[in-house]
Amino acid sequence: TDAQVAFIGLGHMGGPMAANLVKAGYSVTGFDVVPAALEAAAAAGVVVAESSAAAADGADVIITMLPAGKHVFAAFEGEGPGGGLLAAAKPGALFLECSTISVEDARAAHWMVANSGHRGLDAPVSGGVMGAEAGTLTFMVGGSEEDFAAGMPLFEVMGKRIVLCGGPGAGQAAKVCNNMILGVSMIAVSEAFVLGEKLGLTHQALYDVAANASGQCWALTTNCPVPGPVAASPANRDYQPGFAGALMAKDLGLAVEALNATGVDAVLGRSAEEIYREFALEGGAGTDFSGIINTIRAASDG
Ligand code: NAD
Repeated sequence: TDAQVAFIGLGHMGGPMAANLVKAGYSVTGFDVVPAALEAAAAAGVVVAESSAAAADGADVIITMLPAGKHVFAAFEGEGPGGGLLAAAKPGALFLECSTISVEDARAAHWMVANSGHRGLDAPVSGGVMGAEAGTLTFMVGGSEEDFAAGMPLFEVMGKRIVLCGGPGAGQAAKVCNNMILGVSMIAVSEAFVLGEKLGLTHQALYDVAANASGQCWALTTNCPVPGPVAASPANRDYQPGFAGALMAKDLGLAVEALNATGVDAVLGRSAEEIYREFALEGGAGTDFSGIINTIRAASDG
């Protein structure tokens, strides 16, 4: 815990992640462009800096947890208080880029970091705000084994499962592929429950069969889109997230970007992106993504 940490982006995820590093004994200096985020971080023991560059000054490790790729590039190279990280960091500083961004942007970010004389990993997470607060995130990491080992003590404070997926961009690649499975499978499970309703099947009966048969998946047995069978699923609390529809729409957008870049013929992945983009636009942005079942039911005749 003698590493000096700079934490840039103290929002829903970054705030609690930085707080856990403080609790573990790290000295953390943070910056966010939104004053309210800085105040909350200060209350959790983060030393607040006046700019990203000031936070990075002297830091051994620089963690970024920002909304999207353009914010990462702005933080690395942009002007003003929210920019200039690459120039301000000391030579050889380790960048842990934890935001969810495209594979292509992650690779570009890696080369920017390396060309500035630093070391970098893409390290997106899953587990949501609850996982960030509890320090139980999953980190999917891309980069070298040596840098992975250097980042491990910090990952272990913020997360529970930490997986090196391959070279630069491999962490984002793993996340985008996993979340494409999740988006497609939640739609599949929801369609099956609505069909079951029309066929006179109770939710519990379909659950009892599918959960123990070949339809088994996380969307069914952990995040079940109907209330009842799985007591802890968001459906039992009026679809409070959980995993918000806006984030599923965002992640599937990144999946489609990757599908287009690679030319993969993924009919269901593309369709899931359209379905969740519309869901987010039509009131589902702030609800759990399993609420898609209500859209499917409403669109069904009879
Ligand atoms: P958020 O919007 O709450 O936090 C992002 C923070 O970055 C904001 O406080 C914003 O002011 C700040 N910011 C933007 N530009 C900046 C700059 N140049 N310098 C300093 N700060 C800047 O978002 P979040 O929910 O914390 O998510 C962060 C990332 O994690 C996203 O990429 C998201 O997709 C991913 N993610 C989120 C969740 C979740 O459940 N919220 C789960 C997994 C992954």
